[in-house]
Amino acid sequence: MTPPVNSHLLHLHIGIDAVAEPRMHIQLLDGAPRLITAAVRVLGVETGGMDTPIAILPETGSHWRPRFDAKTLAHEERMLQTAAYILCAYLTGMRDCEVQAMQRGCLTLTRSEDDMIMRRRVRSMAYKGKSNQGEPAEWVTIEPVAKAIDVLEHLSFRAASARGLTTLWPVLAAKSYCKNYLSAEIVRQLNRYRDHLNDLFGTPDAPAVPNGPDGAPWRITTRQFRRTIAWHIANRPFGTIAGMIQYKHASVASFEGYAGSSRSGFRAEVENERSLGQLDDLLTYFDERQAGATLSGPAAARISQTLDGISAELGPLPAMIADRARLRTMLASLARTLHVGVLADCFFDPGTAVCLKQATSVNNATPLTALCQPTRCPNACISARHRPAWARSALDAKSLLKEKRLSQLQRNILQRELERTMKILTDIDEGTARR
Ligand code: SF4
Repeated sequence: MTPPVNSHLLHLHIGIDAVAEPRMHIQLLDGAPRLITAAVRVLGVETGGMDTPIAILPETGSHWRPRFDAKTLAHEERMLQTAAYILCAYLTGMRDCEVQAMQRGCLTLTRSEDDMIMRRRVRSMAYKGKSNQGEPAEWVTIEPVAKAIDVLEHLSFRAASARGLTTLWPVLAAKSYCKNYLSAEIVRQLNRYRDHLNDLFGTPDAPAVPNGPDGAPWRITTRQFRRTIAWHIANRPFGTIAGMIQYKHASVASFEGYAGSSRSGFRAEVENERSLGQLDDLLTYFDERQAGATLSGPAAARISQTLDGISAELGPLPAMIADRARLRTMLASLARTLHVGVLADCFFDPGTAVCLKQATSVNNATPLTALCQPTRCPNACISARHRPAWARSALDAKSLLKEKRLSQLQRNILQRELERTMKILTDIDEGTARR
């Protein structure tokens, strides 16, 4: 093989396009760019020199990325490290410093007698407030996090052990001039990961990671992951997050993980997000009501009256330009009673709560949404947002009624349930039509 061909192949392998980036040329032959250029003219250039199989993306039927070379492989490893960070930070609710304190061997599994995995726990350090003093803590977590940790143990091994470290978060390039730990660099990596996803899976008009409200790429920070999961745990019933079964488990596991320990303050964060979310949800109610939305369900009259009263007190200014701070203050006490639900939202009053009457021993500080009776309880308020769940319920009842082996009693109960559901759907639709 002639030297120019040789160096051309080397260029392909390490991911250098000597035509586009002449300064990157590896200068094997006393700097013979002329020969290289000639060889490129004859042979052309192609992407990278690795024959690693690239998986097919089911959504597109094509390879999920172009071929690897040494340069893109290193980049992809950093992106994989970032993806693992996101899974750990988001699905555990750990703070950035808590995630980055994870060490090799931090995952423990508890198995049942028949060898089923009962619990996955991550050991790390919890940091609360402004204190630099962490204390050992455990987070209960779910399978995707366990898988991410497994990937990280492989990914970090070479770079960490070359420096005598056991961290799961080393800077992957094990070069003498690089820092040992990822630390603040993770923010840059997160935003590069966003760009990487947009390049691979988005288009300029439809980026894979939606832009921010100003139309610029969303700026990702480490704090957003913990806040987002806290907000969802606090404000959204699991059923409304369609298809995100994983998420439900994450919510249960994360909250359970923190319930026994206040060390990391996650419970307080959830409560804080709950009150912010309740107020935001009620503001949405208020704005929709101003735009002519009607409510249904037993609490509809009470809530509509309260919202209309506040609107009248605010004066003639349209709500969107009225004093939002004043509006928030006026809505605050009603907001504290609001619990968003799948079939209805609950404006909780323990004195009249039907669910509490069904339970034997309860603390009456919160509604028992699993026992909710949205067509009977005076606290239940139904809006157009609940329509899909009611429509699904009607379909279920209709298909069950087709079952020939039902007893007459079962058939009567189902029939009554279907009538109630159809009445709710009609109320919602009439309300929407009047707008
Ligand atoms: S029955 Fe439903 S609406 Fe009534 S208090 Fe309980 S959860 Fe709220």
